[in-house]
Amino acid sequence: MTELDRKQDRAPVPTDWTYAPAPEATDIVSLRERYGLFIGGEWVEPTETYTTIAPRDEQPLAEIGQATAADVDAAVQAARGAFENGWSALPGSERAKYLFRIARILQERAREFAVLESLNGGKPIKESRDVDLPLAAAHFFYYAGWADKLEYAFPNRRPRPVGVAGQIIPWNFPLLMLAWKIAPALACGNTVVLKPAETTPLTALLFCDVLRQAELPAGVVNIVTGDGRTGAALVDHDGVDKIAFTGSTEVGKAIQRRLAGTGKKLTLELGGKAANVVFDDSALDQAVEGIVNGIYFNQGHVCCAGSRLFAQESIYEPLVDKLKRRLETLRVGDPLDKNTDVGAINSRMQLDKIEELVQAGKDEGADIYQPPCTLPERGYWFAPTVFTNVAQSYRIAQEEIFGPVLSVLTFRTPDEAVEKANNTPYGLSAGVWTEKGSRILWMAQRMRAGVVWANTFNRFDPSSPFGGYKESGFGREGGRHGLEPYLDFDDSEAWGG
Ligand code: NDP
Repeated sequence: MTELDRKQDRAPVPTDWTYAPAPEATDIVSLRERYGLFIGGEWVEPTETYTTIAPRDEQPLAEIGQATAADVDAAVQAARGAFENGWSALPGSERAKYLFRIARILQERAREFAVLESLNGGKPIKESRDVDLPLAAAHFFYYAGWADKLEYAFPNRRPRPVGVAGQIIPWNFPLLMLAWKIAPALACGNTVVLKPAETTPLTALLFCDVLRQAELPAGVVNIVTGDGRTGAALVDHDGVDKIAFTGSTEVGKAIQRRLAGTGKKLTLELGGKAANVVFDDSALDQAVEGIVNGIYFNQGHVCCAGSRLFAQESIYEPLVDKLKRRLETLRVGDPLDKNTDVGAINSRMQLDKIEELVQAGKDEGADIYQPPCTLPERGYWFAPTVFTNVAQSYRIAQEEIFGPVLSVLTFRTPDEAVEKANNTPYGLSAGVWTEKGSRILWMAQRMRAGVVWANTFNRFDPSSPFGGYKESGFGREGGRHGLEPYLDFDDSEAWGG
């Protein structure tokens, strides 16, 4: 008997390679039946409520406050009071201590937050655990480091806080977007009123516990939940000095119109339709991983998702074949299963939008491919989808689908790739896959996108600025650039003017 035979004797080779269920326990999260609004460090009883649900099974999770204009006013007043009564005058090194504390508490309670994020938003637990939570904590750490170095970040410019920041965030990265907004605002000495998205308020509400644990002075951060009306009341409030918004281009434009002439500062991080450009000299298997990560990560609910794949004609067929084979291995299902790659669609509304645009793709003549997969009966689901034979004019090549849907187009030359990649009203991100460093730089200079990834996709770091061109918005979040929207400068004084 050979050595190999003996080993097989002891450990039979499995015949079935499917994954066994690996559900994450949810008992680490203790939900309240009803949540108030977090104003001035206290829970304030709302006059109206709505129910937030779990998109994986449509089960109700909790009753959430629908903040009215009067509630928003109370929150802005609390933020103003905290700004004037100490927070803005606190030395940067003292503000930093609170931010460091928040970062550490987020790390300590990471599992609780990750489970809640997946429960309320539908994203796979391995993403909330390995991406959202570590990055959210890293953001607080990073901006804690800047709090006492603002004069070095902007030499000769005398930075000072803007005042009260109104911040409105979407549902695709609820806690991470909260961190992107709150960390730089506080580091610069501002106070905050933040409105989470209607469908995903729970991690922002749990974050209020963290604020108390960190003993952040009352009123420095206020959280008002509710739908678009609450967001609009915050935008319109006279006591707000700056609005930071992440969400759809449509609402972003409406906010910009409302703020015109008010003197309020504004940053907008809006939609995208990123081009992921694959040249024939790239490592195709690696590119396939990047394409999959680019569009199926977080069910494609990503503003910088690589939703348009441009394949050089000479490798189009092998690339699409490999991609389809890879799609067959994606596990779609329960977001709380640790093996899941593609979780639940965030809401009924979003599912309707995806379905409508996919139907438009079929009607316009594109070829659809979806791998065989069994979708759960309850909840909101959409199979990973690839469209080939797509023309540039099709809606699926022009509009942000914000779902797990990829449109594949082709090109022959680098010039053509640039022209087609830039043929979009958006300009948030792009990807290039090639062995040639010079070609990466050539492409990066020509593609009109705030972020260009080379031989990778969807990589984030708090020290790296993120933001768009054209209809993807303006202003940068992350890095030293991310401090600027939260500061005013006394330039003239500094120069003796
Ligand atoms: P919205 O732009 O409506 O939502 C973003 C945030 O703005 C939410 O907190 C929302 O509240 C709030 N809001 C809505 N209306 C107003 C208003 N008039 N004034 C102030 N704040 C407001 O995005 P949706 O959730 O409706 O998604 C629609 C589409 O937008 C998606 O299909 C996707 O294409 C795109 N999108 C892009 C995002 C990005 O990161 N670029 C993020 C989210 C969506 P509420 O949640 O209650 O509506």
